[in-house]
Amino acid sequence: MFKALVVEKDDDGKTSASVQELSEDRLPAGEVTVAVEYSTVNYKDGLCIGPGGGLVRNYPHVPGIDFAGTVEASDDDRYKPGDKVVLTGWRVGEAHWGGYAQKARVKADWLVPLPDGLDARQAMAVGTAGFTAMLAVMALEDHGIKDGPVLVTGAAGGVGSVATAILANLGYEVAGVTGRPETADYLRSLGASQIVAREEINETTKRPLEGETWAGCVDAVGGAMLARVLGQMKYGASVAAVGLAGGAALPATVIPFLLRGVNLLGIDSVMQPYDNRVRAWARIAKDLPIDKLEAMIQPATLADLPQLGADILKGQVKGRVVVDLNG
Ligand code: NDP
Repeated sequence: MFKALVVEKDDDGKTSASVQELSEDRLPAGEVTVAVEYSTVNYKDGLCIGPGGGLVRNYPHVPGIDFAGTVEASDDDRYKPGDKVVLTGWRVGEAHWGGYAQKARVKADWLVPLPDGLDARQAMAVGTAGFTAMLAVMALEDHGIKDGPVLVTGAAGGVGSVATAILANLGYEVAGVTGRPETADYLRSLGASQIVAREEINETTKRPLEGETWAGCVDAVGGAMLARVLGQMKYGASVAAVGLAGGAALPATVIPFLLRGVNLLGIDSVMQPYDNRVRAWARIAKDLPIDKLEAMIQPATLADLPQLGADILKGQVKGRVVVDLNG
């Protein structure tokens, strides 16, 4: 038997989440069974736990879009019992039971070995949000980061916190946009040298181009903020668009692309091929200082998840929630 957070849907379509004891024969099909040690709370998890079920494809469902733990049994040559593994993406926690359980059974292709230098708890302090932040930084590097400050929007959130710490550690000057002024000290501790108030960038303007300010941008917010940022980029600079915490509509013009050669790079962490995932995890282990990672952690247990799921949808989670499955 193992403990899991199970989301169920009643005949009226109403969903509810509760911690339950399940037997192993309930686990979905897959080649590798993992004793899950840690998982996290991402924006998508908030949608899957919350009313309506968000992205959930089947009920009853175990959410949790990422996890780290130890292989318990494997029908695949690449993994053997005792191996440490991490999983992000592949619609686990949406279409396939995920990490909010002490056991998970998944396809071997979806896993990667835990990188040297990170334990399971630290890997989940990074989690999908941090993995995506690394992909965003790598995309900016591939297109060249200009001289000057690199903007991170939604800076106090999961993606934003990790992006801030990585960019600062790589020697870039980081400006963090936040709607929570009380997080300024936290963002400075991660390496941000400039704090920009959310209202400053969320204010609408009729001008499609403003002063050339940002040398690059990791954008976790989308919507009006992304539209405004596009017009503030330096000539030829890139924005890595990661999320839509501030809305999916993009009220922008084509002018920044035509007259400033701005690049808008879409980042998808879900369907990343194996080699890219290994490369990104190795970069995380190398470029993200452990003390900064520790500063981002908010510890949690399975029982805390319904509340935390609601909090993350309201943009009220700071840094990274790390769920201890044995806590
Ligand atoms: P968090 O909730 O941890 O962070 C989002 C941050 O955005 C908040 O902390 C807040 O930052 C800011 N924010 C929230 N609402 C608004 C708003 N209305 N206007 C402006 N800013 C707002 O989420 P994550 O960091 O985990 O994820 C961020 C986004 O990235 C989500 O949309 C998520 O779905 C997406 N994502 C995409 C992935 C991909 O593969 N492309 C993978 C992982 C996440 P502050 O308080 O500092 O202002």
